[in-house]
Amino acid sequence: MASNWNVCGVCDSLEIAKPSVVWCSECDEGLCAECDKHHTVSRASRTHNSIHINEYNKLPSEISHNCLKHNEKFQIYCRKHDCPCCRRCVIETHNDCKDITAIDDIIKDVKSSNALNNIELMLMEVAENLEKIIKDRKDNLASLKDQKGKIEIEIQQKRIKINTHLDQLQEDLLIELNTIEEIERNKIKNLLTSLGKKKKEIKEYKTTLSNIKQYASELQTFLAIRQIENNVFNEEFFLETLSTSTSLGRIVLSLEDDDSFFQTISNFKSIGQIDV
Ligand SMILES: [Zn+2]
Ligand SMILES: [Zn+2]
Ligand SMILES: [Zn+2]
Ligand SMILES: [Zn+2]
Repeated sequence: MASNWNVCGVCDSLEIAKPSVVWCSECDEGLCAECDKHHTVSRASRTHNSIHINEYNKLPSEISHNCLKHNEKFQIYCRKHDCPCCRRCVIETHNDCKDITAIDDIIKDVKSSNALNNIELMLMEVAENLEKIIKDRKDNLASLKDQKGKIEIEIQQKRIKINTHLDQLQEDLLIELNTIEEIERNKIKNLLTSLGKKKKEIKEYKTTLSNIKQYASELQTFLAIRQIENNVFNEEFFLETLSTSTSLGRIVLSLEDDDSFFQTISNFKSIGQIDV
């Protein structure tokens, strides 16, 4: 877009500052309302098609009727180099080019040409494809969130399974501890009951012996000694047998760590992995 589009070019050359209301591409300048009047009737410019300055502003800025290098109007189209040329371009660069055409011949009916239609169709197609891709990516974005939620639940369920398994192992071990402690407790309790009985018997023998010493006749004493002696031998034998058996061994309960269990658990570096 021209840098001076907003001032009237004619007035500007007379050093009068007036805003432009139309743009003439052929003259490549803006015109105020008054100058536009002259412009539309003047013989030199009455065929020019001027447009309102607002419409001019809607056009892409890089489109110009003039050659940027020489600032002269494009007049020729060189097919060999596929470019528009001004008079000077032809002289300087395209002098030897054979396939050149007057630009006016090429541009007539361009607005209803296949080229414009094709570009319009292509634009529509590109826009449609863009829309499809955007929709697809947005769908994926939404499903990504769903998938994340599902996997989070799966991980939690996995964790619950592991916890349940460990709870079961703990429960099993506690039951085993309980059972073993009960067995060992009962063994000692039963032994204590037997020992209590023996203690009572010994006490009775002592009382009997003391009574015999005090009150029995010689014969009675003789007979009683043999009887009691027998019983005492039995008690002694019982104690000897007991002391050589395992029944008096000190019972100690302890927990033996299963090293391989902890090794296996610490060998697990993850409980799963996320695939894409
Ligand atoms: Zn003017
Ligand atoms: Zn003009
Ligand atoms: Zn040029
Ligand atoms: Zn050329």
